[in-house]
Amino acid sequence: MKLFDLNNKAIVVTGGNRGIGFALAKGLHAFGAKVIIAARDQQRNHQACAAISAHAERVLPVACDVTCPRSVATAFEQAANWAGGLYGCIANAGGRGTGCALDEVDGMAWRTTLSTNLEGTMNTFQAAIGPLKAHGEGRLIAVSSLAALHGNAQFTDYSSAKAGVEGLCRALAIELASHKITVNCIMPGWVDTDLNADIKQDKRQFESIKRLRVPMKRWASAEEMVGAAIYLMSGAGSYHTGDTLRIDGGYHIG
Ligand code: NDP
Repeated sequence: MKLFDLNNKAIVVTGGNRGIGFALAKGLHAFGAKVIIAARDQQRNHQACAAISAHAERVLPVACDVTCPRSVATAFEQAANWAGGLYGCIANAGGRGTGCALDEVDGMAWRTTLSTNLEGTMNTFQAAIGPLKAHGEGRLIAVSSLAALHGNAQFTDYSSAKAGVEGLCRALAIELASHKITVNCIMPGWVDTDLNADIKQDKRQFESIKRLRVPMKRWASAEEMVGAAIYLMSGAGSYHTGDTLRIDGGYHIG
């Protein structure tokens, strides 16, 4: 068994057109995978694919809104047809919460966060399971968050969604173990992406997160999430399921 080889393995990355998803898609591609970038903005999906491979080799952009089961099903059908089957999927698409206290938050906005982060993961995995079973083995990875473990005022929606993602993955790992499909979470700490653009603008908050809360005293780059995904997707991770890999610069022990 080649430990970290992903040669020609077809893997869908939702939210793969920027941020962590783009870094993951690029990293998987560099290890030999056929990568399908699935997000809402198809123009950006094309740009991301071009940035990974100028000649569109082993990359496919597909329009996909993870909150809509029909959109996800169509995207997976396109992906499987293009690649001749599917081996893996990373449910990475997500968005931050409302930033409102629970007694002030608009219920619709709260549910939108749940819909993108939790139902989006459910819709994505639901569409992936059939093709992975047909392939005879496979890998599912969800991207959760430190918010699943740590309280964060004004983010009850995001914390609930990401805690739900963790629970979903543990339960699904048991459902799929006999089909040779592993299910795990990657839990990033603070990562420098568009998602946190507002925090970065607030210099004092940006600095205090690094200085006071992260033992490694810095934010992560999106590329620092790639190694975990390669490990979990490849032969190296074949007996690893139902788990969460925390990549947080030591935040959880600090
Ligand atoms: P970004 O905001 O940089 O990127 C979000 C990605 O998700 C984009 O590609 C976006 O593409 C896509 N997306 C958003 N909504 C949908 C949707 N409804 N359907 C399909 N795609 C969608 O975020 P990050 O890269 O920072 O975050 C990626 C994941 O990592 C998220 O799940 C986030 O919760 C998680 N995370 C991030 C952390 C951080 O510090 N950055 C920390 C912990 C977890 P488009 O708009 O084209 O649809």
